[in-house]
Amino acid sequence: MSEPTSPPTNSPTSPLMQQYHGIKSRYPHALVLFRLGDFYELFFEDAVVAARELQITLTSRNRERGEQIPMCGVPYHAAEAYVARLLRAGYKIAVCDQMEEAGPGKKLVRREVVRVITPGTATGLNVLEPRENNFLAAVARGAAGSAIGLAFVDVSTGESSATEFSGAGAEEKLRDEIDRLRPREILLPRQAGLFARDSGSGVSADGSAARLPGGDSTETRIEEWVFAHSYAERILREQFGVSGLEGFGLADHPEAARAAGALIHYLRETSAVGAESEGARAHALRHVDRLRFYEQADALVLDTVTVRNLELVAPLFVEDAARGTAVTLLAALDDTVTGMGARRLRAWILRPQVDRAEIEMRLDAVGELAAQTVLREEIRRELGGVQDLERLAGRITLGVAAPRDLVALRDTLGRLPLLRGNLERALSVRLTALREQIDELADVRERLERAVADDPPNLAADPGVIRAGYDAELDELRELSQRSKQIIAAMEERERKRTGIASLKIRYNQIFGYYIEISKANLHLVPPDFERKQTLVNAERFTTAELKEYERKVLDADQRIAEIERRLFSELRAWLAEHAARMRQTGTALGQLDVLVNFARLAASRRYARPEFSSTGELMIVAGRHPVIERLLEQRGERFVPNDLYLAQATQQILLITGPNMGGKSTYLRQAALIVLMAQMGSYVPAEQARLPITDRIFTRIGASDNLARGRSTFLVEMSEVAAILNTATPRSLVLLDEVGRGTATFDGLSIAWAVVEHLQAETRACALFATHYHELTELAELLPGVRNVHVAVRETPDDIIFLRRVEEGSADKSYGIEVARLAGVPHSVIERAREILRRHEQSEHELSEELTPGAERPGAAAEREPPLFTPIDRNVLEALRAADLDNLKPLDALNLLAALKKQIS
Ligand code: ADP
Ligand code: MG
Repeated sequence: MSEPTSPPTNSPTSPLMQQYHGIKSRYPHALVLFRLGDFYELFFEDAVVAARELQITLTSRNRERGEQIPMCGVPYHAAEAYVARLLRAGYKIAVCDQMEEAGPGKKLVRREVVRVITPGTATGLNVLEPRENNFLAAVARGAAGSAIGLAFVDVSTGESSATEFSGAGAEEKLRDEIDRLRPREILLPRQAGLFARDSGSGVSADGSAARLPGGDSTETRIEEWVFAHSYAERILREQFGVSGLEGFGLADHPEAARAAGALIHYLRETSAVGAESEGARAHALRHVDRLRFYEQADALVLDTVTVRNLELVAPLFVEDAARGTAVTLLAALDDTVTGMGARRLRAWILRPQVDRAEIEMRLDAVGELAAQTVLREEIRRELGGVQDLERLAGRITLGVAAPRDLVALRDTLGRLPLLRGNLERALSVRLTALREQIDELADVRERLERAVADDPPNLAADPGVIRAGYDAELDELRELSQRSKQIIAAMEERERKRTGIASLKIRYNQIFGYYIEISKANLHLVPPDFERKQTLVNAERFTTAELKEYERKVLDADQRIAEIERRLFSELRAWLAEHAARMRQTGTALGQLDVLVNFARLAASRRYARPEFSSTGELMIVAGRHPVIERLLEQRGERFVPNDLYLAQATQQILLITGPNMGGKSTYLRQAALIVLMAQMGSYVPAEQARLPITDRIFTRIGASDNLARGRSTFLVEMSEVAAILNTATPRSLVLLDEVGRGTATFDGLSIAWAVVEHLQAETRACALFATHYHELTELAELLPGVRNVHVAVRETPDDIIFLRRVEEGSADKSYGIEVARLAGVPHSVIERAREILRRHEQSEHELSEELTPGAERPGAAAEREPPLFTPIDRNVLEALRAADLDNLKPLDALNLLAALKKQIS
């Protein structure tokens, strides 16, 4: 403690600063927090950065000597909060501690970096967003043209995965995935020129878009050799205790393996930097115990643009984010009560299922919980008291769990028997399986109850962590210490009487230990057996042989107590680490249960319906609603108007949606996508009925000028997005185009839109909804089989137009722009002039569409056309049924009618 204040150490070339420079040089990219007594100090550039980020005072050492070393510091006991802020701001931190006690006479205390914490490897509960994953990602790429490997891990939970992207568009797929994961930190090989960041449009000069997204993630460059395949193989085998990479599906995916290897390497370098040996480092990461290789196509694929347009997890417009309006699907659906559930829900939203069996299993569970109100609410109440088991398990294995973490664990385990008991009443396969996965960990709980005090201090180094009765030696020492303290307390009273000094006090401080304090005025009463210890301005401090004896007893005992408590605590933590996998498995099950309960509550409270799946390629939604807008309207006391949707690959593949601005076109498009997505998450959907195919990808594109607020609304971007759809959509995809083609001149835009619809119809074969203000497009419905018009209806009154929000058959007859202008108070003369221009314009538009319509001028063209497909065959069946007079129908006639109807639809 004397060290920082002793003058000779203050010069930049002093032993202390030399020690600092030696350490700093090994961590050039991290802010070094250098422990000096009760503070962590930062120096030089680090100090400037930290002072700015933490808004603390920047001072300097040695001003009086004319040397200026910028510095700032934070008290060590509050360091965690400051570290958290620096991490959130994207900095890496090297924590350098004193490895021995500073004592009088010691010249220089040994110091070492005990931990490196980076945004991607943080585990502190005040750094992590409880309801989001904290991913660290690594990207590897071999020779040009080879696949790109991506691996990522959430150190706080141990969850790790890897994948590979190959072929054309590999970089885009990588970007989509990184956008989805939003890692806090990305590891890249030091030399790779690829993936250099640019902040521009996302499309580089050569159009290849070689840019990494994830603007708020910290980029960390590491040595090339770390990415070598042979090294990856070795370190992965070691980490996961396997003899080969086949088990993880990595054997045939060298790039994914290289990325994963770099990830593990980096984790060992940082998380457990203080660990003595390689083995000890591996040990601390034991909870990262498996790696899952996955293919993008294992899930419903959502590209970045779609995730953004559908506002799945983040609002499209900054204003919404700022206002805190719950406009995202996640916000509208998330009523989970645990961080584990919230993270799971987010993952399910961004990666819905394509496996029908899995979806049905989730739906069965949701259905059961939706029907069993009492069961559901009981489970939810218990879940509400459950702490983040996944992250607690992570902190335990990493050796950073604090005493209060163990209390959280103990309380959580206390709830498991009830939760499991509740699930005993459940019948569905998934709920039964989850019950099996919930391990009550009775042995762990029993030990925690025995070992940890009711309300321990938060630092393991502080006394009082271990409960009385757990360790006999500890109990004895505590009693000894207690007894000695009592004797000292009694001594005070005795000495007062003996000396006649009423103000005599026996006190304790850390530096001088126990002492008897006598004020100056009473010094003449001090007996000869008092030994002088220290002189103050108004008092003198003394000790006695007896006081010294008991002081030694107290201090010895307290020191032993501290040692024993520390040992017991780390033994306990190590023992708990052996069981971390069970905790994590339980946590994961609880997270899923939380989401299923959440879905069930939505189903019950918002009149959501269970979706059905069919393999006919038909998509039918009866009275569908937009889950987010419906909620927003409800909050304002308004009602959402439900709408039907029918798409079928064979007969009704593409719907063209026209109608006035603000009519509800975009909403109609998005609700279709959200219903499909929710269904594949395993949720009930906002509709009366939904029969859906299993969709492999959803694409959503918004025309440039409809999308100005995004700030990158160039037509080039719009077209590159359209290109991506035309190149990658499959017949099992759902494509939503909203005002595409709008970002350029009318004829250009119209022509492009026209060609896009033709291509979708003939080549891509994906079901699509296309909202457009190009009325000319509606003619396509007559030209192409499977293309059909609908419009959002309005009612016009002499001085008003009313949006009915109803989607009806046929195209809109006009766009109502001028009516809206009139309502807005545009002068009468301008309105009249606009009408005149419109009339002329419509004439020329007509001529244009004649040109675009192949065969329009050919005589007899109409006769060659397919029969109008806008009347589905089913309609005839409906008509026939309506016309049938059942009262007078003979049984045989009824059978014949039935056969005839059946024939029509098959
Ligand atoms: P468009 O794309 O046709 O310009 P939007 O879909 O953006 O129109 O809808 C405009 C607004 O109308 C929405 O923000 C919403 O408040 C309201 N709206 C849309 N559809 C409905 C509906 N079905 N029921 C009630 N209100 C709706
Ligand atoms: Mg719109």
